[in-house]
Amino acid sequence: MQKQNLLDEKGKKGRVWYNSLAMDIRKFVRPNIVSLSAYEAREIPCRVKLDANESPYGFSEALLAVKSLKTNRYPDPEAKELRKLIAKDLRTRPENILQGNGSDELISYLITTFGGPVLYPVPTFSMYGIISQALGERSVGIPLDEEFDLDLKPMLSAIHKYRPKIIFLSSPNNPTGNCFSSEKILKILEASGSTSLVVVDEAYQAFAGNKSFVRLIDDSGNLLVMRTLSKVGLAALRVGFLITKKEIIREVNKIRLPFNLNSFSQAIACKALKNGKLLKQHVQSVIEERGILFRELSKIRQVTPFPSDANFILFRVKEPDRIYRDLLKMGVLLRNMNGAVAGCLRVTVGTKKENTIFLAALKRIMKGEAGAQ
Ligand SMILES: *Cc1c(COP(=O)(O)O)cnc(C)c1O
Repeated sequence: MQKQNLLDEKGKKGRVWYNSLAMDIRKFVRPNIVSLSAYEAREIPCRVKLDANESPYGFSEALLAVKSLKTNRYPDPEAKELRKLIAKDLRTRPENILQGNGSDELISYLITTFGGPVLYPVPTFSMYGIISQALGERSVGIPLDEEFDLDLKPMLSAIHKYRPKIIFLSSPNNPTGNCFSSEKILKILEASGSTSLVVVDEAYQAFAGNKSFVRLIDDSGNLLVMRTLSKVGLAALRVGFLITKKEIIREVNKIRLPFNLNSFSQAIACKALKNGKLLKQHVQSVIEERGILFRELSKIRQVTPFPSDANFILFRVKEPDRIYRDLLKMGVLLRNMNGAVAGCLRVTVGTKKENTIFLAALKRIMKGEAGAQ
């Protein structure tokens, strides 16, 4: 134990404060938090960054929108202009939209509002499980089938057995890249109609053509759709949305922090969304490059890519850990998914140049010409 003298306002020594260096702070931490570990978003230096499903294209001209902002004023707590633009884009109404500081924040709001158990297929986006644990709620993961689609029978029995309050379905799914079959999602919506909310997380919908569930929100009492601007070139802003019935929005809105979306993000997002043509062009380039990347990966011996509706491709190799490291040595950063999907790495679709550098490096490694020292 260490004894310290506290100084009063005049600098005189006052009472004695005991500060135990041996004190274990974990004794004060809730048990569900002690066993969590911090989300690893390390910055690994590299030449070609293809690990985080970011867009290779940004919106630098949209930055001009912040020039006239008043830094001394709080942001619009309701993000009115932004919600109006999103509503127009999605052909729904602003009252059906709730803004989040990224969709991560909305996942947290949903579990805070409705509680658990929380159900999702695995492998999927890790935040559903992490946030459930952080909030002390039980989570249940049901394995996908061998095509990475929803395994309906065990999903339905889990709904029956655990009566989850929320079901998260990421479609397209991260990290597998595929959309789940719409029929199966509809069956889950139907089977859980009176027990669970179903959140279809459409973070990658822009790359998936017309397969969106937004148009069903009016007809389905327990459907919520989640979207984000993070994967279409605006990850820096942290802007996500929930689209659902206004009765559901009203409940979640009670726990939303008043100024959760800052003025800069609101202004830049509005400006970028007004240039919808550019946004579509960027998405279209990624979709085209994804096709080329998939074909090229298929040609490499002992590399098995899985078809993707997203802006990344999951592929299987024999020695994922070594190949991940060898690629990094050559300056190319991917995401090693070996823990979640055996033998797999995930590559984000980059610019043509970035994809070419990645493919050349991978080909050399697979031929045994590079890496392994
Ligand atoms: C990236 C991702 C998100 C997170 O989006 P933010 O808006 O950046 O928080 C949500 N869901 C899935 C499936 C993702 O892959």
